[in-house]
Amino acid sequence: MVATTELDRMTWYRCEKCGLLVDSEMDAEQHEECCDGDSGSPSYWW
Ligand SMILES: [Zn+2]
Repeated sequence: MVATTELDRMTWYRCEKCGLLVDSEMDAEQHEECCDGDSGSPSYWW
């Protein structure tokens, strides 16, 4: 599930599996589909 975070008056979307922050909800959702979880090394970046 994608979580939202506000930083510098911008909304960021955070992957709850690995903690990756992106500025687009669509990118975050796409990332999460490919994310391999809490290994610390995302399989998909941007
Ligand atoms: Zn992730």
